[in-house]
Amino acid sequence: MSVNRDDVAEQEYLPSIADLLADTSRPTFSFEFFPPADQAGSDVLAQTILDLDATGPDWLSVTYGASGATRDRTIRATRFIKKRTEAQTMGHLTCAGQSRDELLATLARYAEADVRHVLAIRGDMPGGPTVPWQQHPDGLANATELVSLIADNFSFGIGVAAFPDPHPQHRDPELDARLLLEKQQAGASFAITQLFFDAGAYARLVERVRAIGCTLPIVAGIQPVTNIAQVERFAALSGAALPQRVVRRLHAVADDPAQVRRVGVEIATELSAEVLRAGAPGLQFFTLNRSRATSAILANLRRLGLDRRSPAVASDG
Ligand SMILES: Cc1cc2nc3c(=O)[nH]c(=O)nc-3n(C[C@H](O)[C@H](O)[C@H](O)COP(=O)(O)OP(=O)(O)OC[C@H]3O[C@@H](n4cnc5c(N)ncnc54)[C@H](O)[C@@H]3O)c2cc1C
Repeated sequence: MSVNRDDVAEQEYLPSIADLLADTSRPTFSFEFFPPADQAGSDVLAQTILDLDATGPDWLSVTYGASGATRDRTIRATRFIKKRTEAQTMGHLTCAGQSRDELLATLARYAEADVRHVLAIRGDMPGGPTVPWQQHPDGLANATELVSLIADNFSFGIGVAAFPDPHPQHRDPELDARLLLEKQQAGASFAITQLFFDAGAYARLVERVRAIGCTLPIVAGIQPVTNIAQVERFAALSGAALPQRVVRRLHAVADDPAQVRRVGVEIATELSAEVLRAGAPGLQFFTLNRSRATSAILANLRRLGLDRRSPAVASDG
């Protein structure tokens, strides 16, 4: 629906992500990609972006990695999205291993590419979120400082990370909630969750943050499962709880990859439906640069009428 559009000036009129999330008549649907490692990966990503753009996403985002080469590829991917789709574009930015000046330089590159939104996150040490964090000597201590740096120097719409299952470094849900409030006070206007598999965990997170006065809309991060070993690894790395009922359903079909994908789509559809019915303002799909599972889940949600929100559920998230 939206390919071959070179005139990025049209994007002047796109509503911001905060505005999209404020529209209570419907949830947002957005897709996350990672920067490809080589030309073959770039080709796959380009096709995936175009395929998923045809579903009319609200925004498309690209993760930000640990090395300089990966970071260049993130900027390139955001430029591609700007040029070839009609969706809002969001670049992720982490503080890991970078000085304040390097962070400002990356932000300037996003601004030059006309990227209007940044997901401000801390990043992890090599080895994951439980490895003790070391601040760069000229860098920032945490994501809240990154939000302030961005808000003080640029006009990006700023998103931040949220954790339905407590962040694995402290495993302290109240601290996670307080940090979301601090990020809002520093200039963030929305949050996107880490992957999770229990709609109750999402609902409890929303309850905790609302109880302390944080009003950030919290988009639910959905990981379509297409491979059992991979999702077990992601859950272990991110600290997300993988409930036994989910593991049992996947292992029951473990010998047949096509059945694993089918059950994975079913599980993600059920989870998405539950959080949307509970009032989540939007879903962000972690696509792993593939379109099939995400497209199937979206089609299921549309069949269930969940691309519209009823007034009864339109008030939270
Ligand atoms: C939607 C989403 C997208 C992501 N994209 C990327 C990506 O592109 N690249 C990437 O490398 N990683 C990405 N991540 C992972 C993220 O970097 C990790 O989850 C990281 O461990 C935490 O990031 P944060 O922004 O929540 O950090 P922070 O808010 O800085 O928190 C990190 C830890 O420090 C503690 N902490 C922070 N501030 C304080 C304080 N003031 N007092 C006490 N403790 C504090 C927190 O409790 C937490 O345990 C993403 C995560 C999500 C949910």
